[in-house]
Amino acid sequence: MKEQMLKVNCSFCGKEIECPRDMVNTEKHSCFECFEKLKDNWSDIEKSKIHIDLPPEKLNEVLPEVLTDSIVEEIFPQLWIDKKTGIKADVQKRISQRYIWCRCICCNR
Ligand SMILES: [Zn+2]
Repeated sequence: MKEQMLKVNCSFCGKEIECPRDMVNTEKHSCFECFEKLKDNWSDIEKSKIHIDLPPEKLNEVLPEVLTDSIVEEIFPQLWIDKKTGIKADVQKRISQRYIWCRCICCNR
């Protein structure tokens, strides 16, 4: 299912940008240009309250800056709780596959 995008205006220059529906109530919105210009002035707390309209191709280079420690600390535990069961099952599967693989190597000797 594709995220529904809504039109919002950049809180800094007024340019029209798109915002995912579930982030529309974020305190501020910023276009990518303003983010580039202003990011050094924003504290981590401010960054966590600003929706930034990131072009997908910029996401990888910017993400480490956006994902500051405070955000990781806030979001990751929740993410971990949500995904833990899945991750656990995945790890168990990997371990059992590895085990089978090891046994096959041993058998071939
Ligand atoms: Zn702007």
